[in-house]
Amino acid sequence: MTAAEPMDPTPHPAPSGSPSGGMGEPGSDGRFGDFGGRFVPEALVPACLELEEAFRRSWADPAFRSELDALLRNYAGRPSPLTEASNLSERLGVRVLLKRDELNHTGSHKINNVLGQALLTRRMGKRRLVAETGAGQHGVATATAAALFGFDCVVYMGEVDVERQALNVFRMNLLGTEVRPVASGSRTLKDAVNEAMRDWVSSVETTHFCLGSVMGPHPYPWMVRELQRVIGDEAIGQCRALLDGGVPDVVVACVGGGSNAAGIFSGFVDTGARLVGVQPEGGAAIGRGLPGVVHGSASMLLQDEHGQVSEAHSVSAGLDYPGVGPEHAHLSAVGRVEYPSVTDDEVLDAFGLLARTEGIIPALEPAHALAWVVREAGRSIPSGSSVVVNLCGRGDKDVAQVAALLAQRPPSP
Ligand SMILES: *Cc1c(COP(=O)(O)O)cnc(C)c1O
Repeated sequence: MTAAEPMDPTPHPAPSGSPSGGMGEPGSDGRFGDFGGRFVPEALVPACLELEEAFRRSWADPAFRSELDALLRNYAGRPSPLTEASNLSERLGVRVLLKRDELNHTGSHKINNVLGQALLTRRMGKRRLVAETGAGQHGVATATAAALFGFDCVVYMGEVDVERQALNVFRMNLLGTEVRPVASGSRTLKDAVNEAMRDWVSSVETTHFCLGSVMGPHPYPWMVRELQRVIGDEAIGQCRALLDGGVPDVVVACVGGGSNAAGIFSGFVDTGARLVGVQPEGGAAIGRGLPGVVHGSASMLLQDEHGQVSEAHSVSAGLDYPGVGPEHAHLSAVGRVEYPSVTDDEVLDAFGLLARTEGIIPALEPAHALAWVVREAGRSIPSGSSVVVNLCGRGDKDVAQVAALLAQRPPSP
């Protein structure tokens, strides 16, 4: 296997397992039901096994947990509040609670995962990070951790995204990270993942691949969900204090790869709450996709009639991904989580609505979750219901793009 074809799925299967309970550990081969696994080139198998071993040992180690907790608290700013959105609630006729992960250092939930992986990198004795990024939030979070830990860092980013998220490119450079634009394919997130994996194949002795979502080969989907679990653990405790009965009727999150959704769902999967993962209409891997293997695991995937990966299209770079994390494919297959989609227009409306009613400018990604709530309030969400929305990122990075999009919009009648 050459370093030039990290995408070629060489399966390294083991007997299929299934997660224990709602969102437990996957089978030993990293399977969530029919999805997941570890489809990587031979050269990456030892690195995946080393990472799994390091994560398993560290996650069971109270010293690691307290080191990570301290970083999350003192560096990232956790816990994030759960805010009652009274004005929006009045407007919609449902009680909206916002999980404020946009207040984290660097502006999104990505830092939760990255700080955990940075600690693991140090434990594994490596000192270089490579990462992929779409909107740039994961790249910025990784560059931030690299600066903090003194690691070398290279971030791969599609040329299209380099252009539409120029501010985040500059931030990464300021933080001492090299951003390598990717010119292949659709020049977006999918292609950036390919390039980061290529780099990892050829540098695996010294380098950790800091993957930004619940995707990729085992152990990433499981590990990243566990590192994002803090969102759900905090939120359910906050709901106990705020809500009669302690459990919201609905929990909503946007889904790109699915890490912020997996993080918040993991706190509620064993309750009676309705769980909803909102996809962009142009990237609805669950619903419009078919089973397939991409970036090291089996999941649902947008593809053409020849099984080639199709391009996703979304107003938000962070959701512009043709696949979805394997655990989400599983949660959909077993009927525990719904995965509807919303249009770019609905997203722009929700973005503006939250800004005007609550004084909070969301990222375009969580504006998808809000857009679904706006559409369904008083319909599939009965009036008076309580709804927790994971506000996983802030909109500073998106305001210039939104201004341009609104300028192109036909005036409303
Ligand atoms: C990266 C990103 C996403 C998409 O990633 P998930 O793994 O689906 O969470 C969503 N929202 C924000 C703010 C992001 O930065």
